[in-house]
Amino acid sequence: MAKRDYYEVLGVGRGADDRELKKAFRKLALQYHPDRNPDDPEAEGKFKEASEAYDVLSDPEKRALYDQFGHEGLNRSGGGGPGFQDIGDIFSHFGDIFGDFFGGRGSRRSSPNAPRRGSDVRYDLELTLEEACFGAKKDITIRIPVPCTACSGTGAEGGKLDTCGHCGGQGQVAHRQGLFVMSTTCPVCRGRGATAKARCGDCHGAGEVEREQKASIVIPAGIEEGQTLRVTGKGQPGTRGGPAGNLLVRIYLKDHPIYERHGDNLVRALDLSFPDAALGTTLEIDDPDPASDKKLKVKVPAGTQPSETIHLPGAGVPHLRGRGRGDLILVARVAVPKKVSRKAKKLLNELKSELG
Ligand SMILES: [Zn+2]
Ligand SMILES: [Zn+2]
Repeated sequence: MAKRDYYEVLGVGRGADDRELKKAFRKLALQYHPDRNPDDPEAEGKFKEASEAYDVLSDPEKRALYDQFGHEGLNRSGGGGPGFQDIGDIFSHFGDIFGDFFGGRGSRRSSPNAPRRGSDVRYDLELTLEEACFGAKKDITIRIPVPCTACSGTGAEGGKLDTCGHCGGQGQVAHRQGLFVMSTTCPVCRGRGATAKARCGDCHGAGEVEREQKASIVIPAGIEEGQTLRVTGKGQPGTRGGPAGNLLVRIYLKDHPIYERHGDNLVRALDLSFPDAALGTTLEIDDPDPASDKKLKVKVPAGTQPSETIHLPGAGVPHLRGRGRGDLILVARVAVPKKVSRKAKKLLNELKSELG
């Protein structure tokens, strides 16, 4: 089934800001909420569709991918694209928002013991031009902050905690501001209500240590510098049953000794001898795709001038969206011999007088 445009799903314009998106999603979520539409698969479908659209458009990175490449851009970004398997996923993902929407207890000040989503982990990946242009699979090692096992993530030696003396274990401190009593997170225990008797030696009190984790990244053919691949669920693990964060891989490109990339076109020099440039010839060159052992035939027309170009359509970079490849553009370079034999010298002199 073809997916509907996310902006159309939410009924907003392409320039909609966060507030408009949230308002549109809120309206649809209330209308199709499963609590109000029990055993109604159509409403459930609409609820999922709206949640997915909001998930993508409210995330600047996903939205940029979607704006540029449509649904396919999200599918190709490594993580299998967005989409919620069931309603439970949606509630765990949007817990905060639904709390706001439906006036539930879960306002923003969530309890320190509530499930928490792991944070996203960023990784810079440098690729060769071939890897970016023609796709590759890269194995990387990332460092992920995980809860320290020695102290169960408390940061306290042996996990031993005292009730916080500052807030009396409430995690919140109240202070008066004019007529109002304001309540803020306790600065001493950072809302946990407890402090360490002594610091954990393994994590130096941070409650987290770094763990190395391997990940396999599939590079889609045609990716460009500065784009980010998202691998869903490969970031920091969630705590207390919360979902894992994502792995965000930002792409950098190494320079290439032969090719220069211009969008989906590749440019390279083509060295010609003076006679070949003057008389024309047919040459064979390598396909830029390292997976192809096909030779490319190049017809050099007679009278080719230095820096004239020859286009080989379809021999460039595969389009990231859709089929086909860009062009390979050859820039003629005419080689002048530095040393010539006695015979060549004689011939060149004859040529010189012939050409005048
Ligand atoms: Zn405290
Ligand atoms: Zn520790």
